[in-house]
This record gives sequence, C-alpha cells and structure tokens, in this order.
Amino acid sequence: MDVLVTNDDGIDSPGLAALVEGLRERARVWVVAPNRNYSAVAHSITIRDPLIVEPRELPGAHAAFAVTGTPADCVKLAVRALVETPLDLVFSGANLGLNLGMDVHYSGTVAAAAEAISLGVPSAALSVERTDAPALDVAGRIAASILAKRILGWPAGCFLNVNVPSPATGAPIRGIRIVRQGGHGYREEFIRRTDPQGRSYFWLSGATDRGNAEPGTDLHALSEGFVTVTPLRYNLTNPDLLGEVETWDLNGFLPA
Ligand code: MN
Repeated sequence: MDVLVTNDDGIDSPGLAALVEGLRERARVWVVAPNRNYSAVAHSITIRDPLIVEPRELPGAHAAFAVTGTPADCVKLAVRALVETPLDLVFSGANLGLNLGMDVHYSGTVAAAAEAISLGVPSAALSVERTDAPALDVAGRIAASILAKRILGWPAGCFLNVNVPSPATGAPIRGIRIVRQGGHGYREEFIRRTDPQGRSYFWLSGATDRGNAEPGTDLHALSEGFVTVTPLRYNLTNPDLLGEVETWDLNGFLPA
C-alpha cells in the first residue's frame, strides 16, 4: 500500500506526524504538505505563482516534501508529479481543530481529501479537538483502522470526515458515531475597531455554540463525547430541484 499524508497546518505540525506514526508500519507513507499553515483556505489552488518543492527528512515517511502551496495544490502535485506510484489512499490531518458541520466548506484539511477523491483516490480527513492535550494518538490509530478497512475493500469514491474529541486527561472517548454533516456550530460576531487612520476594520470572532445541534449530526455527537465519522461527497448538485428548475422558462431570456 502507498498512502499520501498531507494537511493544512503545515508539514511541521505534530498532527501530521501522528498520522505518519499511525500508518508507517502498514503502508509506504509519502508526505506532501504545505510549508506553512494554510488553515481555512478551503479548496483554493495556486495558478499565478510557481510551487517550490523542498525535500524533507521525516521520521516514518518514505519520502517527504514541503510545498509553497495550498493543501489542494499538495495533493494535485503529489498525484500528478511527485509520487511515482499510484496511491491507494490519501489522509489529510490530523488537523489541530475540529472540522464539523459548515467547517467542512472552509477547511483546507477537508479540501485536500476532496481533491484526492476528485482525482480518483479514496481519502479521509481527520481533525482533533484543540486542547492542551489533543488526542493525536487516537487520530493515528483511527487512520490505521481506516487503512485496514481499505485493504479489505470499501465503496468506490469513499471520502470520510473524521473528528476526534480530546477529553480531559484520563477521561475515555465514549465511542465512534457514524453521523451526517451538521450546520453552523458557532455564534459568530465581528469585532469592530478603528485603525490609526480612522478607518473601521473588523475581526471575525465568536464562540463555539453547538447547543442547537440536531441529533444525528457530527456537531451533536462530538459534543456528546464521541468520535464522529461522516462519509462525504463532493458534487454539490441538489437533485431534488433539478425537475423544478427544468420547468422554469429560462430559454425565454436567450437572444432569439
Ligand atoms: Mn488547520
């Protein structure tokens, strides 16, 4: 098995090292990851600048490269240019910070996994609750068990989003829940300030708020202390509306 590990926190993140550690005995591990933190860049790619690639020594990795690009850049570059063999699986993470509900759409961690699936390589994004003692070893062990399942066979196009709570020291994780993606998990606010030139500027701020999370969602299950696993897809088509929009007379707006 050949697997790629990438992330959005940057190649030096302990979260990435935790996944390599979890996988190294079961697969040949390639690492292609951003050279700095690219969190919350979603699925952006670099098209107006070159990508500089720097080989790195990384414990447990067959080969490792730091790239001056986004997580999606890294996966594309790995598949198209840097990894000389077909990849069996791409792991992204482990992100330091959860990617639940709408986070999925902002996350570079999840975008790297989405890029992999768009290139035909099954993938999993893993994120860990950010605390003083993030449960990175749990993420590594879950990556290993996902790899074992992949060896046994699983559905085409499988793309998983995994989130791991970090309970206080000594407290156990309650189990694993297979759940759907939830909605917004924050109470957002913009802090408005004034700069020395008298112009207003804004900082996005706020706090976690999962109080209204529906049962059966990742937001709810994580709040209850469970690891969450959500199978995702990347095509955003709303099939329920195809028929209705078909009935609109949009042709009437075309020039005759
Ligand atoms: Mn991140």
